Amino acid sequence: MDWIHCNKCFAQLEPGITLHLTSCGHMFCNNCLGNGLKESTCLVCRMPCSIMKLVPDMKQEIQDYFTDPEEIIKKTCEVLQFQRQHRRRLISYLLQSTKKFYTARNELKRMTDLCQQQHKQLKEYQKIIKNLEAQLANQSKHTSPFNIPISPGSNISPSFIQSSVASKRPAKSTPYTPYQSNLVTPTRLSKQRSANFSAHSQMI
Ligand SMILES: [Zn+2]
Ligand SMILES: [Zn+2]
Repeated sequence: MDWIHCNKCFAQLEPGITLHLTSCGHMFCNNCLGNGLKESTCLVCRMPCSIMKLVPDMKQEIQDYFTDPEEIIKKTCEVLQFQRQHRRRLISYLLQSTKKFYTARNELKRMTDLCQQQHKQLKEYQKIIKNLEAQLANQSKHTSPFNIPISPGSNISPSFIQSSVASKRPAKSTPYTPYQSNLVTPTRLSKQRSANFSAHSQMI
């Protein structure tokens, strides 16, 4: 700190010399202050001022004026780096949280759409069931009060029963099934008749 000196006698810091700082920003040695300390008037600008002794444990804001600017810049860079790495960590977390939020929101929308779709389908099924129940109630009014069983030919059985009966039947029957082979078809009947006729004519 080669620039620190008494603003009156220009004495620098050395053993036996103590410096004081005024509130107006001037410095004086203990030798020059003398009466100035009592009057609390600056020896340079003559303004009323308060005076404090420069000591190692003075306030940080006062110490900053006596610190090498290179050290202040170096410290500021360290502070900047320290705050930057913590800020980056927080931003990374916030970005991940935002990404998770949007993913969850999309999933929620998908589930909501699916739920609405299934709700709509459920309504349709309920409507179908209601119609079927109405049909059954209507058909039960037309049945005999003597509890006569419904004949298969009558058209008063519920449509779903008819459809279930129809579905139990074989979908397709080939002419080569054992049951069908015993049937006397018109073609087979005519062949049989011609065979019988030839046998009868031979007997004659
Ligand atoms: Zn002095
Ligand atoms: Zn002054």
